[in-house]
Amino acid sequence: MQAALLTEPGKPLEIVDDVELESPRAGEVEVELEYCGLCHSDLHFIDGSLPGVMPMLLGHEAGGIVTKVGLGVLDLVEGDKVILSLRPSCGRCYFCVRGDFTLCEQSAAGLFPDGGTRLTRGGEPVQRMGVNLAAFATHTVVPAAAAVKVPDDTPLDIASVLGCSVQTGFGAVVSTAHVQPGATVMVIGLGGVGISIVQSARIVGASRIIGVDMNKGRREQSLQFGCTDTIDPAEGDVAQQVLELLGGRGVDQAFEAVGSSALTEVCIASTRNGGTTTMVGIPKLSDSVSIHAIVFATGGKKLLGCFMGHSNPHREFPRLISLWRNGKLDLEAMVTSKRPLSEINDAVADMQAGLGLRTVLSV
Ligand SMILES: [Zn+2]
Ligand SMILES: [Zn+2]
Repeated sequence: MQAALLTEPGKPLEIVDDVELESPRAGEVEVELEYCGLCHSDLHFIDGSLPGVMPMLLGHEAGGIVTKVGLGVLDLVEGDKVILSLRPSCGRCYFCVRGDFTLCEQSAAGLFPDGGTRLTRGGEPVQRMGVNLAAFATHTVVPAAAAVKVPDDTPLDIASVLGCSVQTGFGAVVSTAHVQPGATVMVIGLGGVGISIVQSARIVGASRIIGVDMNKGRREQSLQFGCTDTIDPAEGDVAQQVLELLGGRGVDQAFEAVGSSALTEVCIASTRNGGTTTMVGIPKLSDSVSIHAIVFATGGKKLLGCFMGHSNPHREFPRLISLWRNGKLDLEAMVTSKRPLSEINDAVADMQAGLGLRTVLSV
């Protein structure tokens, strides 16, 4: 099959047509992919900031049509339209039975229980990096739990972004921070995940949504998604600017959507006493957050972490599609570019330059 393969970090992805995909085994499905969004997590491997064994097939924000169904799969049939989610939960482990699906012990150990990737090229294995859905390709095989059936009329060119950025942002607001109507909110980083946090805060009825980003275009764009105010970090201390906007008191809820420990510290400084900071971005392996302990303790502040927003895709995708259908969730404006898979390196260059919000590749 055709695929955009990462053969060496720092080099362009190679479009090849000789990757071999195994047929789905028991509990797995094959999906003919239609669209896949390019995500910052892909970029970490493309530019080498996260290590990995090469060659690697990236791509994890995707949708398509089920083409083959493995033994024992009861809830999907050939022809079903699906959106993929990169943390399929087993439903039976310590965490899954408590509803902590993104902490699933089985999927944390790898996408497939046997550690395989179902992908080869020239007889040699092609890697997925555990959670990767390998969706920069015409087809993929995934555990059935990673494929969420959606209505046949769901437009995958925009709805594929539910798979990573939107479910992460929505989950962070609804399932991790539990933002209340009327809350004051700050979001640092106004890319795909940050804008999903902004939209979700608007949907649940936040009264002020302050967007923070170095990029002027992104700050301006955030106003159409629900930001009531924006802050340019170049104009001075962000926490000080937040206090000025809110009459001397910090925000109820702050979200870090970049993956920076320094920005997490800015979030903590920008929350009111008793306020909550939620880390949503994925930091570097070596990062740690330092807290002014006495202020944190006596101020009753809270710091929360989450992976994929601590969301359950089987619950979230249907309700996010409903929110989109009734005009509350804007997916059209989040997909700022659509390109064929053959132009994936141009999409990577756009992302590195901070252009647009999301590029969706048709495969
Ligand atoms: Zn992602
Ligand atoms: Zn589990």
